[in-house]
Formats: sequence, structure tokens, C-alpha cells
Amino acid sequence: MANPDMPGSATPTRVKSEPQQPTPVLSLRDVVVYPHMVIPLFVGRDRSILALDQSMNVDKRIVLVTQRSADIDEPTEQDLFEVGTLATVLQLLKLPDGTTKVLVEGGERVKIQKFQDKNGYFEAWWELLSVEDNYTERELEVAMRSLVSLFEQYVKLNRKIPPELLTTLAGIDDASRLADTVAAHLAIRLEAKQALLEMGNVAERMEKLMGLVEGEIEVLQLERRVRGRVKTQMEKSQREYYLNEQMKAIQKELGDMDDVPNELDDLSRRVEKAGMSKEAKKKVTSELNKLKMMSPMSAEATVVRNYVDWMLNVPWKKRSRIRKSLAEAAAILEADHYGLEKVKERILEYLAVQQRVKTMKGPILCLVGPPGVGKTSLGRSIARATGRKFVRMSLGGVRDEAEIRGHRRTYIGSMPGRVLQNMAKIGTRNPLFMLDELDKMSMDFRGDPSSALLEVLDPEQNHAFNDHYLEVDFDLSDVMFVATANTLNIPPALLDRMEVIRIPGYTENEKLHIARNYLLPKQMEQHGLREDELQVSDQVLVDIVRYYTRESGVRNMEREAAKICRKAVKRLSLDKKLSKITVTARNLESFLGVRQYRYGIADENNEVGQVTGLAWTQAGGELLQIEALLVPGKGKLIQTGQLGDVMKESIQAAMTVVRSRAKQLGINPDFYHKFDSHIHVPEGATPKDGPSAGVGMCTALVSALTKIPVRATVAMTGEITLRGKVLPIGGLKEKLLAAHRGGITEVIIPAENEKDLAEIPRNILRKLEIHPVSEIDEVLEFALVEMPQPVDDADKANAPLTDVIEKEVRPH
Ligand code: ADP
Repeated sequence: MANPDMPGSATPTRVKSEPQQPTPVLSLRDVVVYPHMVIPLFVGRDRSILALDQSMNVDKRIVLVTQRSADIDEPTEQDLFEVGTLATVLQLLKLPDGTTKVLVEGGERVKIQKFQDKNGYFEAWWELLSVEDNYTERELEVAMRSLVSLFEQYVKLNRKIPPELLTTLAGIDDASRLADTVAAHLAIRLEAKQALLEMGNVAERMEKLMGLVEGEIEVLQLERRVRGRVKTQMEKSQREYYLNEQMKAIQKELGDMDDVPNELDDLSRRVEKAGMSKEAKKKVTSELNKLKMMSPMSAEATVVRNYVDWMLNVPWKKRSRIRKSLAEAAAILEADHYGLEKVKERILEYLAVQQRVKTMKGPILCLVGPPGVGKTSLGRSIARATGRKFVRMSLGGVRDEAEIRGHRRTYIGSMPGRVLQNMAKIGTRNPLFMLDELDKMSMDFRGDPSSALLEVLDPEQNHAFNDHYLEVDFDLSDVMFVATANTLNIPPALLDRMEVIRIPGYTENEKLHIARNYLLPKQMEQHGLREDELQVSDQVLVDIVRYYTRESGVRNMEREAAKICRKAVKRLSLDKKLSKITVTARNLESFLGVRQYRYGIADENNEVGQVTGLAWTQAGGELLQIEALLVPGKGKLIQTGQLGDVMKESIQAAMTVVRSRAKQLGINPDFYHKFDSHIHVPEGATPKDGPSAGVGMCTALVSALTKIPVRATVAMTGEITLRGKVLPIGGLKEKLLAAHRGGITEVIIPAENEKDLAEIPRNILRKLEIHPVSEIDEVLEFALVEMPQPVDDADKANAPLTDVIEKEVRPH
């Protein structure tokens, strides 16, 4: 039922009546005007202005109807809602820009019965919307109170609403008006606002409104929470930044960190100039940015700065100019080293090919030989000859992949691997990189260093070498790698990538040349001796080779030369009257002390059971004494002298050979029932392994059993089979050089090694009588003073042995 006479309603009486004639319509966009609201409207559309004019002309009443969609400029009946507000125009002001500002006051809710188009504007027939209220008075009061308190909460959360509004609300005691005022100030959608306008039932409207206010409160609270969270986060980082800045300022005041910001700028500048790969630059830049955010004193910053430093220190673009002239390279190699013709030739071939193909696609040179033969110094010469810088990295004892490839940055104190450390040290990206002692590398549970090394050496892979610490690829393809080793005991995969050049060691004559023309002048220069101040005769040098050094290379020789120079300098400075020191074979001992070695050890007595074998060790060739002796016993075979397994087995093989030929050699076949045989190889410090002492063992045993002495001038080498065949051995050149050094004049070698004699210097061959053999009998023939006589009746024929048995064994 219509209830136009609501208490407290300020509705003007004249709008209470239903119209006798239609009222002009003002269509509104985006706004719903409720009763009692006074609101300014800006009107610009022609039809609106016409409607207003008409209204002003009649009774200032106008119907305000909201458009269903704000976008429509020329709304038709269908575009307008059917419920609006009858309002009065309080004021009308035409603005200079053609628009009109009107102040309207909402009156009653009206339902439009019919729109009528009247020469450019709408008029409407309407009826009042009935406003009813089915609350009891008590309910109404409670509803009003809770609406107000809800709205209070809302206002507290929503800053846009002036709090004075609450005072206004407190003064409203009409429920419908209260609801309308609240609705007008809620930030809700237009449809919801219109729905509230259309609700004649006040109770229903109040409830709906409370639901809406509550919803809005929730939204606002959520918003506030989110905003709060964002704010604390921001505050935290701002606080840190602020504190950091403050700290910097304090440190600056104290004067000790003046350069902090400059250092960072400096680093970025250096990053720009370093010529890094794209990937690397991106990585360092991001690390630098991190560094800028950190406090400079923190542990973390140190780690990052270290990383950046390493990245800047490895050579990304700097390179030395490669010398192209092969003739010059040849001259340099020649000037630095005596002899080694084949080696130099192969190096030059290698360089020549590399200059043609530009890239280092070929295999890596690997110089193999005993210590002191000039492997390292050859490497230096190659570097000098090609104009590269020289860097050397010893692989001796490296057994961890991380040593080659670095530790990941997660470890404290981690660093790049040794390869990149050395690259950083040398500072150019195309040095000659020497990998020393490749054969001394070992492997354990921490990973196999040889596989990391493979990546370094393989030209297919090393343009993108990945170091765990740097994390970015580094290009090693411009580096010239040269490896050295004492033996060929190198992991096969690595060996596969190498071109092996063997340097077996020098002859006495070669050593003499090297000492005279290279080592001595070098040492004299290093000791500040003029050429005319020290005179050393050739005989002195030969004596040094013979009595003071026993080696394949010339390192000790160099040391002895240094010793002579030292002494000479001392004498010259002590005695001013002296102007020249002359070293002769006679006074040599006063320079170098007593002789260390005997030269020509074997040339004295022919002994029973003592054979000179030839061994090959990492230090080159060696003479190896082999002794055999029989003692009463039960056929035990005693082996002493720190022998390796292979050598022990070859002793057993030798023993079997002797026993199988006992009769033929005039030996009592039962000897092993009554005697223990002891084989001893003195000089426990020399590592002894390998099969090549087989013939020596056999000869020593035969000599001991037959009591026939072995000729002292003979040395021998060769592996033996059970059938007495002599098999070939390795390292013949080193062994012959050793024999020559040791004063041996005859050497028994396996017949199959005869072809290797082509590599032996002629002057050595001239001094050695070589006996190639293929059977043990031939060995015995050359080695023993006389051949044992075969007998049918062992007891009778083998007199010396029987003697011993009778003398020593009978008492038992
Ligand atoms: P390695 O690396 O093979 O152990 P080094 O290269 O250290 O040996 O050589 C030891 C010393 O001997 C160096 O001073 C070197 O110059 C010298 N040397 C070695 N071979 C020759 C040679 N053929 N001519 C001149 N000097 C040599």
C-alpha cells in the first residue's frame, strides 16, 4: 500500500499527486538518484536540455531515469529503466561551454507507465511507487541501528567517505530515507543501486542493503590486508637499503672504504673491456648487479667479488702475436739444444702443418723420455720459436677431477681448476701450455682427472671447456698444448690424442757437447763468470759424466757444472791475485769431492753366478747386477732385492729352463732336492720389474750350478720362454747407452731387436760388440767363460756340484 506520508519525510506536498499531464524525463548515465538526495548534474545532450527547459517552464518537476547502459547517446524507451525518481530542479545554470549544470532534489520513487516522445525529448506518464514497510517498530529500530553500525565500519575502512556523514545518518529517523542515504554512498554497481531504488518494501531494502555493506566491508578488509603485506615487504627492503647506504657513508667518513663505489664502477668498466663471450658477460653482469645490492663487507660479497675477479682475469681476448717464420723457429730450436735432430725435425714439421691449417686440430705433441733430457726446455724453445708465452702445469699427483676443472662455487674457498688458473696467470689466450708428467697422474674415487684432461686436449671439445667454478664455457682452442712424460704409462684415451716423440737419453759424446757448448756457458753466465776466468778441459767434462753423474739426461751434469762455477767464483773473490781458474782432471776432486761412481765396474773379475743385466727405468737405462748362489736346502727358490711380480715370474721361468736342460748343461738333475737357490738383485732402491732380465737370471743360475764364471765384460737383456727362446725387449737404445756408460764391451741382445740398432748412435756401436741371439744356448756361449759339457751320467760328470753335495749335505 502506498505510504507517501512517511514520518520525517521532507517530500514537498506538490509531488504527491499523480500527474494530469506527462512530466519531462532526464535520462541519467552512471548514476541513480534516490529520494531526498540533492545532487548536481551536468547536462549536455540536446534532448536533456530541452526536457529541462520544458520542466522549468511548467513546474520544475522532472523525472530522473537511469539508462540501462551508459554508452548510449540517444536512448529509446527500451534503454531506460522503468523506475525512476521524481525530482525538483532547484537551480539551473548555463555554462559558457554550452553545457548546463542543474541542481536537483530527489522526491518520490515513480514507476513509468508510458514514455512519450515530444519534439526531441521524452515525457512520461508515471505513478508513485508504493513504499511499504512490514517491520514492527522494534524490528525497524534494530534494523536501522545495525545498518548504521555496519555503515560505520564501512566508513572507517573507506577513506573516501567523509566521517561527517555518520552524524547526518544519526539524525535520520525515517528508515526508507536512511536506507537511501546509505545506498547513495555505497560504492556498488549501478544495477545494484537501481535494484535498491526499485524496492518499495523498506524491510526488504534494508536487509539487501546490509548484505551489500557487509560484502563491501569484506572486500575492503581484504584489500587492506593485501596492501599491508606489500607495504611490510617494501619497508623491509627499503630499510636494508637505507642501512647499507648509511654504513657506506660511515665507512667513507672513516676513510677506509673510499673506493667502494668506484671499485664497482671499475669492475663494470673492466667487464665491458674484457671481450668476454656473450654468455660470460651476461653472467658477470648479473653477478655484479647482485654485488651492488650487498654490503661490501659481507662474506657473500667476497665470494661474488672473487668470482668476478676470476672472470676478469682469465684471458678472453688478449693474445700474443704468433711468429710465422719456420726458418727462425728452426734457428731457435738449434740454438737452444744440441743434437735431437729427429725431435727437432718433427717439431718443425708439426709447426709447419699448423701454420697452414691455422687451427690446432692435429694431435698434441707428447715428449717422452727420462728426466733431464730437455723435454721442458724443448717446450720453452717451441714457445719462444712461435712467439707464444710459456706456461707449465705439473700433473704429478693430480688425482681429482676438480683440480683440472675446478670446484663448484657452492664450496667455500672454491677456485677455478688449474687449467684456468694457469691461463689467468699467463694472461694470453694462445700460450704454449705444457702438461708435465702426464704419466704421474693418478685417479681415485673423486673422479678421473684424465677424462677432464681429455676435454682440455680434444680439439673437438676444447673450444667450449667448462670449468665448474666459472660455470661458463671458455675457449681453449687457441692454446698449443705440449705434454711430457717419463714413460708411456699414460691412460690410453689420452695417449690416443698424442703424437709421441721419444727422447731416449744422451751418449757420452753428446753429453760432452751439451756440457761444453750449452750447460757450462749458461752456468758461467748465471754465476757472473767471464769466459776467460774459468777454463774446463774436455777430459774434465768426460770425467764428470763418468764419475759424478750416471744418468740418461744432463740434469746432474748441469748441477755439477754449477758447482764448479760456484767454487770458481768463491776462489776468485777470496784470492784477488788469481785471474783465472783452470779445472783439470787432477784437481777435479777439489771442486766436486770424491768420485761418486766407478766407471767400468764390470771389467775386473769374471765371477761365478754374477751377471750384468740391462734394465730400463724411468730414469733411462741402468746396469743391473744379478747374483745367484746355491746353499744347502730343499729346493726353495729365494728371491730378494725388491723384485716386481713380472721379474719373479721370469726367475721361475729361468729355473724351469735350467732344470729342463740340466743334463745338457752337465748339471745333476736332482740338484733342487738338496739345494736352495737364492737369486738376488742388489741396489734395492732401483725399481725392478719387467721380463727383460730373463736371460740374465738363467745365465746366473747356470753359472752358479756349473761353477763356470760369467765374463765380466758382457751385459745382456732379453726375455726367456720355457723352451729357452729369447724374446725381444723394449728400450734398447737406453740400455745400450747404459752399457756403454758402465764400461761394458759386449752386449747380448735378442735377435729380433737387431732392427732397432739403426737408431743407435754410430760411435756407441763402434765401441760395443753386439751379439744378437735367439736361443738361451747362444747366450751361454757368449756369456760363460767356457761352455758346460753335457754328460749322460750326471753323478759322475757334474763333479763340482757333487763335491758340494758331499761336503755340505752328508753330515745330515
Ligand atoms: P726434462 O724436462 O726432460 O726433465 P729439462 O728440460 O729440465 O729436462 O732439461 C734439463 C736441463 O738440461 C735444461 O737446462 C736443458 O736446457 C738442458 N738440456 C737438456 N737437453 C739439452 C740439449 N740437447 N741441448 C742443450 N741443453 C739441454
